[in-house]
Amino acid sequence: MATLYGAIEAGGTKFVCAVGRGPDALLETATFPTTEPEKTFGQCLAFFRDVASEHGKLASLGIASFGPIDCRVGSEAYGYITTTPKEGWAQTDFVGTFAKALDLPVGFDTDVNAAALAEWRWGCARDLDTCLYVTVGTGIGGGFVHRGTTLKGLLHPEMGHVRIHRLPEDGYSGNCPYHGHQCLEGLAAGPALAKRWGTQADALPPDHIAWTWQADYLAQAAVNWIVTLSPEVIVLGGGVMQQQHLFPQIRDRVRALLNGYLQVPAILDASPDFIRQPGLGTQSGILGALALAMDAA
Ligand code: ADP
Ligand code: ZN
Repeated sequence: MATLYGAIEAGGTKFVCAVGRGPDALLETATFPTTEPEKTFGQCLAFFRDVASEHGKLASLGIASFGPIDCRVGSEAYGYITTTPKEGWAQTDFVGTFAKALDLPVGFDTDVNAAALAEWRWGCARDLDTCLYVTVGTGIGGGFVHRGTTLKGLLHPEMGHVRIHRLPEDGYSGNCPYHGHQCLEGLAAGPALAKRWGTQADALPPDHIAWTWQADYLAQAAVNWIVTLSPEVIVLGGGVMQQQHLFPQIRDRVRALLNGYLQVPAILDASPDFIRQPGLGTQSGILGALALAMDAA
């Protein structure tokens, strides 16, 4: 029987736990609300213990977490959620708690680095060297993989906070507590749309000017990511990207903004494979956690 791995996709509103032997073989999953660490961790631990008593011991666990986190192996605060504004969660020892309680090796990375890894290993970037994964949801975050290694450095990428230009006709003051309307998250995450227009993003009709602006903001950011990281694919996931009409608008706007500078088909042809939806649907995050577990085993 193939090896059994545990996976946690830890988000600001919910934790998804899964146990499986591979991307097509998840045996059990469970979801718990993100309340306080002791309670949410306790529910996850109970889940993994139950599953282990039924299916056998887990070889390892992968944790794909909201941040900021310290995922630099060897660092003093390795394995911690660090300076998050989420109440009760700052300076929480995530890896240590699970490694000790379950007595197994633990892999740890950002939710979006993990999602990029899963898309690279099993999804739409399978045959490529690089994969950029960006989620546009309650917040905006990006992860990057190069030949199977996720990008970590000073900290980890914080691509949602790239600085972009607000359109002159857009008077919204922005929703980022640090950068107001001067970063992508402040202008284009789901809550920014809701506050600017006074209605939930999913209630805005496809022909609303909101989406023309949204495509411009995401295209500005994509241009910055393209010229700094040179990704072969940009995968856009998260709730807001359910608005599928955004994709062609973003591709056209990226081509316009680059203004002929990069003579590559992905951009000149506005290729639908270059800026695209996740190959793994809504599973990129949890399968990313599974990939982290496999790498940690
Ligand atoms: P999270 O980022 O919290 O993990 P999601 O990726 O589901 O979760 O993002 C939630 C955000 O996406 C909310 O702001 C919500 O309004 C927005 N959203 C969800 N579904 C849609 C949709 N179909 N169209 C536009 N926005 C959506
Ligand atoms: Zn910001």
